[in-house]
Amino acid sequence: TRFKKTVKVRTTCSYCGVGCQMDLTVQDNKIVQINGAEDAEPNHGSLCVKGRYGYDFVASPERLTTPLIKRNGKFEPSTWDEAITLVAGKFMEIKEKEGSDRMGVLTSARVTNEENYIAQKFTRAVLKTNNIDHCARLCHASTVAGLAASFGSGAMTNTFADIETSDLILVTGSNTTETHPVFSTFIKRAALKGKTLIVVDPRKIKLTEHAGKWLRPELGTDIAWINGLMHVIMEENLHDKAFIQERTEGFQQIVETVKKYTPAYVERITGIPASDIIETARLFAKADKASICYCMGITQHTCGTDNVKSLANLSMLCGHLGKAGTGVNPLRGQNNVQGACDMGGLPNVFSGYRKVDDPDALKKHEIAWGTVGLSGKPGLTVTEMIQKAEEGDLKSLYIIGENPLVSDPDLNHAEKALKALEFLVVQDIFLTETAQFADVVLPSFCFAEKEGTFTNTERRVQRVRKAVEAPGFARQDWQITCEIATKMGTPIHYESSVEIFDEMREVTPSYAGITWARLENEAIHWPCPTRDHPGTPILHTTQFTRGKGLFHAIEYQPPAEVPDAAYPFMLTTGRVIYHYHTGTMTMKSLGLNEMSPECFVEISSNDAAKLNISNGEMVNIFSRRGKIKAKLAVSTKAVDGTLFIPFHFAQAAANRLTNAKIDPVAKIPELKVCAVTIGKT
Ligand code: SF4
Repeated sequence: TRFKKTVKVRTTCSYCGVGCQMDLTVQDNKIVQINGAEDAEPNHGSLCVKGRYGYDFVASPERLTTPLIKRNGKFEPSTWDEAITLVAGKFMEIKEKEGSDRMGVLTSARVTNEENYIAQKFTRAVLKTNNIDHCARLCHASTVAGLAASFGSGAMTNTFADIETSDLILVTGSNTTETHPVFSTFIKRAALKGKTLIVVDPRKIKLTEHAGKWLRPELGTDIAWINGLMHVIMEENLHDKAFIQERTEGFQQIVETVKKYTPAYVERITGIPASDIIETARLFAKADKASICYCMGITQHTCGTDNVKSLANLSMLCGHLGKAGTGVNPLRGQNNVQGACDMGGLPNVFSGYRKVDDPDALKKHEIAWGTVGLSGKPGLTVTEMIQKAEEGDLKSLYIIGENPLVSDPDLNHAEKALKALEFLVVQDIFLTETAQFADVVLPSFCFAEKEGTFTNTERRVQRVRKAVEAPGFARQDWQITCEIATKMGTPIHYESSVEIFDEMREVTPSYAGITWARLENEAIHWPCPTRDHPGTPILHTTQFTRGKGLFHAIEYQPPAEVPDAAYPFMLTTGRVIYHYHTGTMTMKSLGLNEMSPECFVEISSNDAAKLNISNGEMVNIFSRRGKIKAKLAVSTKAVDGTLFIPFHFAQAAANRLTNAKIDPVAKIPELKVCAVTIGKT
């Protein structure tokens, strides 16, 4: 028998924003076992089913191994030299002919901080545009906008660990058990220890089994119930006057606004019984320490930014901020979506959220990057880039590790937009639905082949370590981007991820004290301004990042599309525990596919009976934008009048149905509610 060398490598799970630490056991360049790291936060040995069994994709025979160039409608393998020369030449031609602002880049929450930093440097310093964005636009752009407006920082205020010190946990718009499974065990543990758990969600999600109170609002009515809670709290004089006086401003604005949100009025809008509004308000206000956790049920709305500001209002009203067990805690979806935002993968800010139209920040980056002529004009968001592409105003797109042709709203429209581009480059590990439309496909490393860092949803910066060699001629994402830049006549060269990390720290004050050496032994929560700073697990302890917390007066507004005679059902979309995002990785795992092999549409037994359709039957679901076919799943989770479809499955992509209408501030689409109809096939 051949000697098989076994090594163990500590790294970070590449799926959700919990960022579990895991030990990969590797034999002969193959991952043969995965264990949760017992001695490490945040998971202390736990992993969910994806973390434990979801890594077959690393050694999948479907991995891309060489660059591909499309000729006469068919992909042909090419050398790196040929592919980079073609991409760089075409980018230079478009830049010269059409101008920088007709080019765009989508960076990724699945690549490392260093790679996101390089993607923004390439976009701003080489293409000379700020047209860079990533999937945060579709999940938490409204969090970044809403919390930044209220507190000055758009990030999770507290940590996973301190949730167990809360007296009350309010979870809304988050199916935590399926989307952030390991964190959901913290919430359940707290509930089992007698802490009050309040779940606000239309679906009977698993967490409701542990909830002391479950409020079931109509989709898209969050502002109304939050204003309703604030109405009761003020009516009963339960608000924290000292906190409001010392730590906030703008309070008078909300006093007037919430007056009309009486429990009876809120019941009419949301369907939540008035008595539940009153009881929940009392519980929340009287708790010594209350924490709010939320996810995309709050953010993916045309009023997403206002939803987030409303939660910030509620928290400030009761002084539940700035100490352990409190806070407003957005649960970011992908493993490195926080890092992709922190590293400037956004059209309006450099890394560390310094605005591109701030002359000081601009100058600092020109000096650091040895360039001139950076654009001070904020760029286009993903949703705007797709629109401009369809209109013929965006000519090229360089997509790194994203799959918008499954994840974006109104896919028929997104497909038309990508087809209209003059030049599309996709850099990925698989030939995804989006890559099929590319002119050039560039094969990259996956997380298990890289050295780098990810930042989880609680702002914890953690190491990613190389465990196996990449297949074929695949290259690391940052290396590919640097080669394109160099070929375009702007040499960018680094020896390693450490070198990029060190440059990033120089221009990113919140990461300045986080050194590679420190990360060997610890994970650090930003902001960490100096090498001797311990990091900041809890934000806003003595003052908010913006100084005083700012209240916003917010009125309820209905969703952009509501049911009518032609489309009488509401549709909401989400995830299942077995799959991740567009399924490009988890669907390569035999075990996960067995557990969740296909798309389904969840419906209540009442609605199924009315329509005379049985569990397991194939049905058609139509919206004004498209049609899909899926298996009917009659479920006690469903609420009458509302259908639920997971968005992972390309063959029955829920996003063929969803509405591309966007929040005016964050430009996030309303993926969580649209009108549909359903019928037998
Ligand atoms: Fe990975 Fe998230 Fe599961 Fe942890 S909870 S193992 S980070 S998918």
